[in-house]
Amino acid sequence: LAHTDLNCLLHPQTDPAALVAQGPLILESGDGVFVTDSSGRSYLEGMSSLWCASLGFNEPRLARAAADQISRLGTYHTFNRRSNPAVIELAERLLALSPMPDGKALFANSGSEAVDTMIKLAWLYHSGRGAPERRKIISRRRAYHGSTVLGATLSGLPSMRGAFAWPDPGVIFAEAPHFYTCAEAGESEEAFVDRLVAEVAALIAAEGAGSIAAMIAEPVMGAGGVIIPPSGYFPKLAELLREKGILLLSDEVICGFGRTGEWFGCQTFGFRPDMMSVAKALSSGYQPIGATLLTAEIHDVVSAEASRLGVLGHGFTYAGHPVTSAVALETLKIYEEMDLLAQVRARAPAFLDHINALAGHPLVGEARAVGLIGAVELVADRATRRPFASEAGIGARLVTLALDQGLIVRNLGDAIAICPPLIVTTAELELLFNRLRQALDALAL
Ligand code: PMP
Repeated sequence: LAHTDLNCLLHPQTDPAALVAQGPLILESGDGVFVTDSSGRSYLEGMSSLWCASLGFNEPRLARAAADQISRLGTYHTFNRRSNPAVIELAERLLALSPMPDGKALFANSGSEAVDTMIKLAWLYHSGRGAPERRKIISRRRAYHGSTVLGATLSGLPSMRGAFAWPDPGVIFAEAPHFYTCAEAGESEEAFVDRLVAEVAALIAAEGAGSIAAMIAEPVMGAGGVIIPPSGYFPKLAELLREKGILLLSDEVICGFGRTGEWFGCQTFGFRPDMMSVAKALSSGYQPIGATLLTAEIHDVVSAEASRLGVLGHGFTYAGHPVTSAVALETLKIYEEMDLLAQVRARAPAFLDHINALAGHPLVGEARAVGLIGAVELVADRATRRPFASEAGIGARLVTLALDQGLIVRNLGDAIAICPPLIVTTAELELLFNRLRQALDALAL
């Protein structure tokens, strides 16, 4: 391949040797939740590409929306008060769906850029409130917030940070809310939550609340292994942060747009963020797009501060791009017309049942799901929760065996992530989990 595959070789959660042995998977076409490779083999796409293709792979309305817009106004920027009808209507619809309907949207080309933007705005907000020294950010171990230098710096995954995090950046890491791997012996879920929140309080006290701008969190940690927090975790955390004047930023790049059973993950997990980043399913993955959503209060402070300073030196050439916006707008229209939330909630119980059925498998330590996102965690010993040695590459082997069965899933270490398009039918869910079970059985042999 002339385009480098350095990215997968650098990602220790995948197994480079296994991927090289498989050979590249060259995907040529799609039909609903299925994709077909260059040799004509079909696969059920259990990961919605990279957690984004909620409407599957060949939605004709999105093709038409792109073609119509290209033939009217194929490109333009949104600097210096230029705009276009597609991005205006997109912003209106997006905000109306969101928990901050009176707020504003600021567009970008990707989730990473939306996260970067959110951090800049958090700094500007505190500057506007007379506290420019609030610069530090709280993140969490196993978090993933993007691949730019700032995204890598905020991420709590060693593979992302290792060679790339900005040195001494003022990012503080709290524990991941994964009861299965992080709870102490005999600890209840409630005690676990209280301990984690107390740890964040201790980190804030140690750093000094007046030096901290924000905490960033994915409602469900995606790339860290589909970590679903216990129910009390976010409400308690949000209360602590509010008391300390620290903003709470919800990274909704994976959770946004129905994935967890509400429009946004923060609604499923019971907190009101000050800002949120969205991307991926905003266009069903059909166009590169991201957005930062901010409350009216944040927007007022930030815009007053930008005027005081005389500049808001920020923007991307393609942010608010008419074609990208037209496709995202059409995506939101389809979501509303199909009653996306009703569809996800109708499928979620079957999804959970299928995942729970795998919990009895001898290789599965924990099975977890919310809405239409879930994972099974492969362990060497179910009784002691002992993981496999990482050299064993068990997760990667399962992914290869699943491919042999005609199923695409992704391993995050030994957690096998499942995140099908939201248009998935009951019969397709059945097929997905039959194939996954066959792969697990083949691995157990
Ligand atoms: N935040 C989260 C939670 C993500 O999962 C991702 C991408 N997987 C990003 C940010 C970065 O998005 P992008 O790849 O579009 O830059």
